Amino acid sequence: MSRMVNKIPCMTLLEARDLYRETLQKKFSIGEIDFYFKSLMTDSFQREPTQLALEPESELEPREVLLIQEAATKLLKDYPLQYITGTVHFRTLKLKVDPRVLIPRPETEELVDWIVEDFGKRTDDSKDILDMGTGSGCIAIALAKENTQFTVSALDQEQPILDLAQENALNNGVQIHFFQQDLLQLDSLKRSFDILVSNPPYVMRKEQELMQPNVLDHEPHQALFVPDEDPLVFYRAILKFASLHLNSEGIIYFEINPLLIDELRFLIQQFDYTISERMDIFGKVRMLRLKKKVTWKRFKRKS
Ligand code: GLN
Repeated sequence: MSRMVNKIPCMTLLEARDLYRETLQKKFSIGEIDFYFKSLMTDSFQREPTQLALEPESELEPREVLLIQEAATKLLKDYPLQYITGTVHFRTLKLKVDPRVLIPRPETEELVDWIVEDFGKRTDDSKDILDMGTGSGCIAIALAKENTQFTVSALDQEQPILDLAQENALNNGVQIHFFQQDLLQLDSLKRSFDILVSNPPYVMRKEQELMQPNVLDHEPHQALFVPDEDPLVFYRAILKFASLHLNSEGIIYFEINPLLIDELRFLIQQFDYTISERMDIFGKVRMLRLKKKVTWKRFKRKS
């Protein structure tokens, strides 16, 4: 590593990868390190993922070397990779993320999957959807992208979050109606929806000790945590909102904390829904679908 330009070492791709393995192996597995390296190549430098194998001797630019060094320091301090590259891949989307928003999880891709599956084959009229607590916009944007029947609105509590979500919508070529609302102080709206979807905060403070530092120390707590004494506070608010703003054959999709499933069933029983549950890839009950019960009145014969 003797070659230098303006005090920045010159490096080939292969040298940089080897340096990464050497620097990071005290904390991460080789598999993880190679994944981090490849993500930087593709998401931060827009290089082809195959370049390391095909042109290992190709030189990195000085700004790339600098960024790679900075990224290694941050990774060693548990800074999440997705905030370093500023990118997350969510279903077919490439989304920008930063510490304003939670990094979208694979479980949430599965929630979108459920909705797309339920409506994918229908070609009838359009559906009005509201994503409640949209963060990066991942759910709303994926839905709008994957089914043109969906007219999607999305809310979150702070304008800077909505700005990021809006940027993501534009970059992915979809139109979403974003608006600022606090989930816990929802104003009544003049309109109603066919589908409500939400991945609200649901981690209890008492779970904190089991959480990884990359999540706990860097992701927004307001998007993660709920008070131990009232962990369903967001679900209750959404169910109340639904009583006024969900159409008669409406459906609600929730991502949930598997630890709270019994309490959730109990809460939902107080409203008029048929519940279906779905597990995530890790085998945990992670999603709920609530369908409004069809009221008896509709079947009564006219006399
Ligand atoms: N699934 C996320 C996690 O485990 C939490 C998401 C949420 O609170 N809605 O970190």
